Amino acid sequence: MRIAYLDRTVHETDGGPKPNGGVSTLSKSIDLQGSVETGDKTTIASKDFGGLYSTKPLALIKPAGSDDVSRVIKAASRIPRMTVAARGNGHSINGQAMTNGGLVIDMRSTEENHFRLLNINGSFFIDVSGGALWENVLTRCVSRFGLAPRSWTDYLSLTVGGTLSNAGVSGQAFRYGPQISNVAELEIITGKGDIMVCSETRNPELFFGSLGGLGQFGIITRAMVKLQPAPDMVRWIRVVYTEFDEFTRDAEFLVSRDDGESFDYVEGFVFCNNDDPVNGWPSVPLDPVHGFNQGIIPQTGASVLYCLEVAFHYQKGDHPSTVDKAVAGLLKPLRFVEGLKSQVDLSYVEFLLRVKRAEEQAKANGIWDAPHPWLNLFISKSDIVDFDQTVFKKMVKDGIGGPMLIYPLMRSKWDNRTSVALPDSEIFYLVALLRFVSRGPSVEESVAQNREIVEWCIREGLDFKLYLPHYQSKEQWKRHFGNQWTRFVERKASFDPMAILAPGQNIFKRTHLS
Ligand code: FAD
Repeated sequence: MRIAYLDRTVHETDGGPKPNGGVSTLSKSIDLQGSVETGDKTTIASKDFGGLYSTKPLALIKPAGSDDVSRVIKAASRIPRMTVAARGNGHSINGQAMTNGGLVIDMRSTEENHFRLLNINGSFFIDVSGGALWENVLTRCVSRFGLAPRSWTDYLSLTVGGTLSNAGVSGQAFRYGPQISNVAELEIITGKGDIMVCSETRNPELFFGSLGGLGQFGIITRAMVKLQPAPDMVRWIRVVYTEFDEFTRDAEFLVSRDDGESFDYVEGFVFCNNDDPVNGWPSVPLDPVHGFNQGIIPQTGASVLYCLEVAFHYQKGDHPSTVDKAVAGLLKPLRFVEGLKSQVDLSYVEFLLRVKRAEEQAKANGIWDAPHPWLNLFISKSDIVDFDQTVFKKMVKDGIGGPMLIYPLMRSKWDNRTSVALPDSEIFYLVALLRFVSRGPSVEESVAQNREIVEWCIREGLDFKLYLPHYQSKEQWKRHFGNQWTRFVERKASFDPMAILAPGQNIFKRTHLS
């Protein structure tokens, strides 16, 4: 009877605007403790950070907790063609958290449901909601316990469930692996509506399938995240290279060293060898008062230059000379351009919230809310020189209106049992073209250039994978997963006979699996 109500609601919507009664019918039909919104109010569910796609969901559901999510999925799974998408904070680029005509579950409404410190045999973990923002996990863990997760993303207004469905990488991943390597247990509502707890030893297929599983195995309602003591302070340093081979040699040297013999964070970016305020020299100094001394760039400097970004953790009680000495020792073997170094000292929390400060500025300048046709790739070490020659030095040599990140990661810090598809080599690079269209090429030009780059990678046979993938056809998904494809499909089918999908992920419709 209850399902019949939901079914009627769906058919009422088929031909046009939905009667107002439909929402309350939906809510009552499944005994929802949370709330349901539709029509104009669903605007957050019809958009994402990318701003490239817009869809019209049937309803936006704000669950009170796991039982609500389970009820919604159970009800939806009995309706032909009904689709469900979990939405974290909607910071996807290509509609991954959307569903057209389906139900979007807004996980942010569950943020407060879990926040519990666990001490298991002397190791600390925090149990948090899938809908919690990482920035809140950070500030709460540090202020209450002096502890923090070990692996991060650069920007923390992302949800726990959202990044665990992809990977979650930043400058700490070379040491601790991505965020998906730092989780001990998950609670998941499967595509059948079952509430399941999983870990490496308990329902491991669901656990590893969901990590990097693109939201296809069910909805993560709780995650148990590894913690470590939080440092008080960070010295954040940028040094500049003119030669790509020297930049990569030093970056790879740092990420390959043992714990205690390297920096605590290693990233890098490409910038234009000119005075463009967004893409060029002014984008480099951490301390703008000292500016960028372009006079000392060697004449060999090409159209683009490279910046290695590192960070060193320390405690407030450490003597400044001890910190200086340790940092100088780590910088000594590096071959950056003498004199092109800038640094700042800031608290650990301020460091991890650095992109939030940039967001506030960008919002004030009106450039944050424009579309973001971003491209994220993992590229094997063996192909990164070719990529530099063709993409950085030619295709995007004039800049893209935002950061062009490049830094190495170690495959051995990733778990092969998760769903993430990676290049084959032990060292591979994250490359991110983070375009802000109001300061660079138009949306159309950016999308076309992204496509050109990906097509070039395929044509040249590069060992690469899209990060945050968003393919349209089964063939493309098969190529993406490679020899993991069968495992992915079989795992998904056992937990999720219904479709939890997004427009860019139409391969996951039930029709393909049954
Ligand atoms: P959404 O965009 O809402 O969802 C992403 C996917 O996860 C969708 O498929 C959705 O259905 C699924 N999903 C969401 N919640 C759940 C859940 N609870 N259970 C199951 N599936 C779920 N990524 C990095 O790795 N490193 C970075 O440094 C980084 N920086 C970024 C900076 C910015 C400014 C932005 C916009 C993105 C950045 N990203 C980064 C990418 C980001 O990690 C992903 O886009 C992430 O998926 C966004 O999280 P979200 O919570 O907004 O998820």
